[in-house]
Amino acid sequence: FVNAPSDLNQLIESARRFGEQTCIVDRDGPEGERRLSYTEVFAWRDRLAAHLEIGRGDRVAICMRNRAEWMVAFLAVMKLGGVAVLLNSRGSAAELAAMVEEVTPALVLADADRAVLLRDGGYDGRLLDVTQPLEDRGDAAGDGLIAKPGDPCAILFTSGTTGRVKGAVLSHRSLITGLLGTQLTGSMVLHNMAREYGMPVETLAAQVPPQAILLVYPLFHISGLGSGFLAPLLSGGKIVIMRRWDAEEAVRVIEREEVTQLSTVPTMLWDMVNRARLEDADLSSIRNIGSGGQALPLNLLEEVRKLCPHSMLGTGYGMTETSGAIAQAVGADFLAARTSAGRVLPLVDLRIEREDGTVCGPNQTGEIIVRSAMIMSGYWNRPEDTAKTFTADGWLRTGDIGYQDEDGYIFIVDRAKDMVISGGENIYCAEVERVLSEMPQITECATFGVADDRLGEALVAVVQAKGLDERSIINWVGERLAPYKAPVRVAFSSEPLPRNQSEKIDKIALRALWPQLAANN
Ligand code: ATP
Ligand code: MG
Repeated sequence: FVNAPSDLNQLIESARRFGEQTCIVDRDGPEGERRLSYTEVFAWRDRLAAHLEIGRGDRVAICMRNRAEWMVAFLAVMKLGGVAVLLNSRGSAAELAAMVEEVTPALVLADADRAVLLRDGGYDGRLLDVTQPLEDRGDAAGDGLIAKPGDPCAILFTSGTTGRVKGAVLSHRSLITGLLGTQLTGSMVLHNMAREYGMPVETLAAQVPPQAILLVYPLFHISGLGSGFLAPLLSGGKIVIMRRWDAEEAVRVIEREEVTQLSTVPTMLWDMVNRARLEDADLSSIRNIGSGGQALPLNLLEEVRKLCPHSMLGTGYGMTETSGAIAQAVGADFLAARTSAGRVLPLVDLRIEREDGTVCGPNQTGEIIVRSAMIMSGYWNRPEDTAKTFTADGWLRTGDIGYQDEDGYIFIVDRAKDMVISGGENIYCAEVERVLSEMPQITECATFGVADDRLGEALVAVVQAKGLDERSIINWVGERLAPYKAPVRVAFSSEPLPRNQSEKIDKIALRALWPQLAANN
């Protein structure tokens, strides 16, 4: 980097050079499909910026489903030096209004449906429905100032898996470093492919088609914002937006748009594989598949390799608070350790600590602690949560329990909050859930700890299953793990278990739905 940018907008400006290349394909525009070139996206951004009337450092909330307007709104806020607050667009009127109240933005940019919801929820501040046609006010010039690296750039909310959502304040430095991490991964993919094909990197690089990404993650999540939007934007890629996951549609779009890149979870990948087989679809354009959240089953891996023979599979580990992935594995490295979360990126320092603060050796389990320019400045408006999350020397406590093997691969065992201490023994919910999910009659399961007079905490489970009783489930676990890891009580759900916006099982909702599990007997 000569003249390394310190301001995300400077970096974004560099994408103007892609001119007439396709930037955004929005499949559900007001008049059907919209295809926007880089030139058109920048022109639209400038028109919109003239309507914002915000000052440097003002918070501007963006509250929309994935659509071209979302991206243009984000770019306009960046141009004027605002701080983009990314709201979860799936909330109810009351939830949206509560989120807005928490961040007190100078302005909210919404789509038509969200604009109505926000007003219904009682929000009476400035609001602009950016799906309405804008009168032409010329272009707003930014104030020409460049943000300092540590200045806030965006606020993103965590998924709320372990409690109330918290707004992570990410600086220009954090986001830019996060994007560097994504770029590093791109080079890793290329090197791994070159090694696999026995080809010089330069020859391969010349053959790689321009990036076309199918965006399925929500833009308000760090993975949607970083690897789904900003990274392809900065490399002249084409971003194909899907408002919601639909396997049939995905397969058609991949074929037609020659999609090269896809980030999914294994469930979506299964849907896609089945659909593609049914339709005999051609998915050979895909070069890069990211799969996160859980280990990729071997048989799924085989199917994907058949359908997408030129593809590299990869996985990563990261969180909202770290502006994206802090560990990754792609291609051969991924296949070598399919259940791992990858190796630490060079931009990150990582250590694993026991509860008493001593550092763990290889293969010893403890909490994952990281330090990097990628890390957030703190949680918006939550000094106490912020203080608890950082160590005295400024490292971030991830709240994840894991270990690192001799080769540097990280394995996530569980969340610290999902570790139950029962009769003095540690029980990792994730481990018990893995064993439960191997019971053929169980379609879904979750475990959590409840207060218990004798044990301190006791493990209980909720399962969705056919033809099983409580005893057979308890025995199944007791026979496969240490007996103290078996749940003491099991509840049966006739419906799929509640999930949060990130498709993670919502254990807070589960506790509320099954209060009888907490019976202290
Ligand atoms: P909250 O912090 O509000 O409880 P959340 O932690 O689910 O919600 P995110 O920032 O979206 O919110 O998710 C980050 C978390 O996701 C990580 O801390 C980790 O627990 C989990 N995670 C991310 N990548 C992986 C992975 N490869 N394997 C296992 N878990 C992962
Ligand atoms: Mg978290």
